[in-house]
Amino acid sequence: MSWRADVLTLFPEMFPGPLGLSLAGRGLREGLWSLAAHDIREHAKDRHRSVDGTPFGGGAGMVLRPDVVDAAVGAALAEMPDRPVIYLTPRGRLLDQALVRELAAGPGAVLLCGRYEGVDQRVIEARGMLEISIGDYVLSGGELAALTLLDACVRLLPGVMGAAESAAEESHGAEGLLEYPHYTRPAEWAGRAVPEVLLSGHHAAIAAWRRAESENITKERRPDLWARHETQRGGAGAIAGHPAAA
Ligand code: SAM
Repeated sequence: MSWRADVLTLFPEMFPGPLGLSLAGRGLREGLWSLAAHDIREHAKDRHRSVDGTPFGGGAGMVLRPDVVDAAVGAALAEMPDRPVIYLTPRGRLLDQALVRELAAGPGAVLLCGRYEGVDQRVIEARGMLEISIGDYVLSGGELAALTLLDACVRLLPGVMGAAESAAEESHGAEGLLEYPHYTRPAEWAGRAVPEVLLSGHHAAIAAWRRAESENITKERRPDLWARHETQRGGAGAIAGHPAAA
């Protein structure tokens, strides 16, 4: 069975959105991965189809109800229960390429998109959800975060990316460095020349230049990544949510 994503959202019409285009879209049509977006509201229990409530303890905004979310998660997991349930939230672990690789190597994921103030904490814990943030800023809903995570995972699935777009040397690869700069025709443009070594045809010299550029740009722009690269810390298993209550 191919890599499968089930997205739980109040706005299923936002999917596949951009994932229906380009390489991800072609992969979707060719069955290299599959995607289903489910309306959380279908699991509402009352005749008003309410999915949220006011926060206990007071305060602004609304919170998604645990019973409604739990039913939506249960239904999404029914066919393929061995997938992680991910809650996209600014309070989560920051998404990085190591986690993307680990998720892409698995069977897929169920992605819960919050809205309003977020989701009742009890269902996050009861379902052992993995909480993931796509950055230190606040979006109005989890849908764009889910699309981002899915795009990053899907391009790593076998057959989705062509050889030309290979992930082998790109930024955040095995060594944790940023990529070297790229140049194409014309060799001179607006008074700017392409670095000579790239026109030399000397493969070893080109590889050495690219390596040096990659290291310099990482040192300059991301001292945090450079420090990690230098210490070459081995990563523990990245996928771990809350221990499920039952
Ligand atoms: N009250 C929440 C807080 O302060 O942490 C923010 C809620 S936000 C307005 C609504 C929803 O957007 C969240 O439940 C989450 O699903 C999604 N969201 C917002 N920012 C996100 C981020 N950086 N990464 C992932 N999801 C995010």
